Amino acid sequence: MNSHLCNRCGSCVGLSDGKIRFTNKTGNYTPKIFEPIDDQLADTLWQACSGKNFNFPEFQKRLFPDVQHFHNFIGAYQRIGIGFAKDQEIREKGASGGIITAVLIWLLDKKMIDGAVVLGMDAKEPWLTQAFIATSREQILEAAQSKYIISSTNDILPQIEAFKGNLAFVGLPGQVQSIRKLQQIGHVSVQHIKYIFGPFYGNTLHFSSIKSFLKTYKADTYENITKLYFRYGEWPGNMRIELKSGRVIELKKFHANYLIPFHILRNSLYCTDFTNEFTDLSGGDAWAPVYEERGKGFSMIISRSEKGDEILSRMVADGAIEFNQIEENEAIDMHSHGYDFKKRGSFIRIKFRKWLGKSIPDYGYEIKGFTFSRYFMELIISTMFILMGTSIARWTVEQFSPKFIGNMFERTRTLWKKSTHNIKRNEL
Ligand SMILES: Cc1cc2nc3c(=O)[nH]c(=O)nc-3n(C[C@H](O)[C@H](O)[C@H](O)COP(=O)(O)OP(=O)(O)OC[C@H]3O[C@@H](n4cnc5c(N)ncnc54)[C@H](O)[C@@H]3O)c2cc1C
Repeated sequence: MNSHLCNRCGSCVGLSDGKIRFTNKTGNYTPKIFEPIDDQLADTLWQACSGKNFNFPEFQKRLFPDVQHFHNFIGAYQRIGIGFAKDQEIREKGASGGIITAVLIWLLDKKMIDGAVVLGMDAKEPWLTQAFIATSREQILEAAQSKYIISSTNDILPQIEAFKGNLAFVGLPGQVQSIRKLQQIGHVSVQHIKYIFGPFYGNTLHFSSIKSFLKTYKADTYENITKLYFRYGEWPGNMRIELKSGRVIELKKFHANYLIPFHILRNSLYCTDFTNEFTDLSGGDAWAPVYEERGKGFSMIISRSEKGDEILSRMVADGAIEFNQIEENEAIDMHSHGYDFKKRGSFIRIKFRKWLGKSIPDYGYEIKGFTFSRYFMELIISTMFILMGTSIARWTVEQFSPKFIGNMFERTRTLWKKSTHNIKRNEL
């Protein structure tokens, strides 16, 4: 809990019957023990924790025994493709192609589920995320789009357990892994979960990102936020904040990415699951100039389990989604930056932690044998993350206009991507 290995999935809070609670949600968002935990509960929490360990090869074999394809970067999969929801409203409201939302609504319509665990914004404190069980199309749509600040979806495990009916669960890799661990031990809290979906995952940000963003605009305190969006409007969308005063602040998503190095949740740097490898179906943005130029929203979709692949086929047959299959190489090329960050960078960063004598996660596998230049590049990246996370660096960036910083960030990132292109693509 007190190391950088905690991914804030929320399982320990959800399973603890109020003995563990998140504190300081607009600060460090840390789980804290308020009442003594007996041995039996401690044992369950230990087994459910995905921050400390999650055995990738073991779960791959158990969950996808008849899988057709496997790649160390992508995990087990049946098909990969590019697509979008054909329902215009869903596509517009979704983060990229609206695929996850479309799948949930389709399952609900077909009565294959009675509800879906999704992540919305808190009703009372609309600047914070809050998981809930959606039981209608409207509620699922309300929870569409990516939230880039900390989410602790699994803290609603008691509601999931009490729900009468079948559920789909949507979560980030750490949350999904914890649900898979609970399913493995046959824990009652997850018995209603029939399908698991999730977005790809680069990183999450601390709430300080929102505070800092407001400061740069010389805007009110976060307590005056009435609506907070991370991907508002046409794909890839804008970060948008609506305030009580009626003021609206909006910045292009690509520019708002400048917040990442200043506010990144450190656990994102040690997570090696980019494509949400233990879901039935996962989705990411189809980052390629050909799609980006067209706007409107395109997703990359990966089906993994038999039932995930069946949903995909049936939805295509029903005309609910557009899906065009692509090859593994094309998929890797589209997200080469993300794979490099997670499947090389994370392992090197974990190694750095080990050399410093700090606790490290055990994923049951390791990718190694990287070049000296890749290690060197990681040293620069890691140093930058440490320096940019300091209060002086955050204060400095707040003195500039976000449009200017965002522009500079986008340009520097493009330059950095170009100059490190060979190191990163090398034997990708
Ligand atoms: C924190 C984060 C980081 C991401 N990083 C990348 C990346 O590096 N590269 C990439 O290609 N794609 C990334 N994605 C995925 C991308 O933003 C889209 O979510 C994905 O393309 C699916 O789009 P969609 O239109 O199908 O989803 P939608 O139809 O909009 O549905 C999204 C679903 O995910 C749920 N959800 C949203 N945010 C969270 C959250 N924080 N925790 C739990 N559930 C959530 C929503 O409740 C909703 O049900 C990231 C997403 C998140 C949330």
